[in-house]
Parts: sequence; C-alpha cells; structure tokens
Amino acid sequence: MNRRLPALLRQFGRDPLGLGPAAQSRHSRELKARTASADRVVQSVCPFCAVGCGQKVYVKDEKVVQIEGDPDSPISRGRLCPKGAASENLVNSPLREKKVKYRPPHATAWQELDLERAMDMIADRVVQTRAQTWEAANAQGQPLNRTLGMAFLGGATLDTEENYLIKKFFTAAGAVSIENQARI
Ligand code: SF4
Repeated sequence: MNRRLPALLRQFGRDPLGLGPAAQSRHSRELKARTASADRVVQSVCPFCAVGCGQKVYVKDEKVVQIEGDPDSPISRGRLCPKGAASENLVNSPLREKKVKYRPPHATAWQELDLERAMDMIADRVVQTRAQTWEAANAQGQPLNRTLGMAFLGGATLDTEENYLIKKFFTAAGAVSIENQARI
C-alpha cells in the first residue's frame, strides 16, 4: 500500500475502519518476531511460583532469545503472568548478579567473595549457631530437638527440587523457620 497517501484514502477498500494495514507504519510492518528466527524451541516450566505455567523457550545461536507461554500446557494453556513473561531477563539481564556479595558487620559497602569462601563461611556459621542455640528439651523435659537460632528464606527462582532438598536439609538440621518468598 502506498504510504504517501493520506490515511483516509488508504482506508478505502479493504480497511474501512482504519484498524489494519491503513494505520500500520512501515516500521511496524517490517518488524519480525524473535520467535520467527529462533533455531529451536524448548518446552520448560516457569520457575517463579508454584503454579508451574508451561513455557516455550526460543533459542538462537545457543542463546535464549525469547520466552512465551506454552499453549500445550494443561495448567496455563499459553498464558504467563507478567513475572513469567519477563523471565527471559533471568537469563539475559545485564543486572543479573553473578558474584557472591558480602557485607561484613558495620561495613557500608558490599564486597565480592568467591563462591568457595562464601560456602565455607556459611557452613561455619550454621554449625556454630546450631551448637550455641540447640534446644534438646523444654522446661517439662519434653523433647524439642530444634534450633530457633537460624532460619531459611528461599527465593522464588528456586525450583521444586531445590526447595525439596532445602526443606529436607534444614529440617534435619533442626531449623523450624523455613520459608519461601513465593509464599509471603
Ligand atoms: S510466576 Fe506467573 S507465569 Fe510463572 S508459574 Fe507463577 S503464575 Fe505462572
């Protein structure tokens, strides 16, 4: 269609309401969806919450380029909420943290730690806190076998298997306060 014609003239014929090609700019007409140029599509599940909506992950040159709802999912039937629709950012956002951040007591700034050292520090604190706050029994002598000295708060991008193992581990260690961000 000739884009130099006034919009009213372009409406005549096949677009009388001006809601289709007559109102479309050349820019939007020439846009191509990232899904159209993907090399392959992988079925997955949104990691954000317990609904478990189905996702189609579009991959090009071995990189995730887009994530859409999966119409074949009996749970979500192609839909994603805004969090699920934005989950491509989990992979590609330049704001994604890739290093362990640590702020020592009384410090005003974060510092980076290597993962090995951070894991050792956490393990030391868990063992020490558990030993210092262990409650074997209450005042009546009834067994408690617990600690209120530590708690676990999971993030919503932990998947089901990770949450299962975390719950197992902390319950076995005697922790009572075990929660996940998705339930708050
Ligand atoms: S966060 Fe949204 S898209 Fe993801 S599983 Fe939950 S409801 Fe579905």
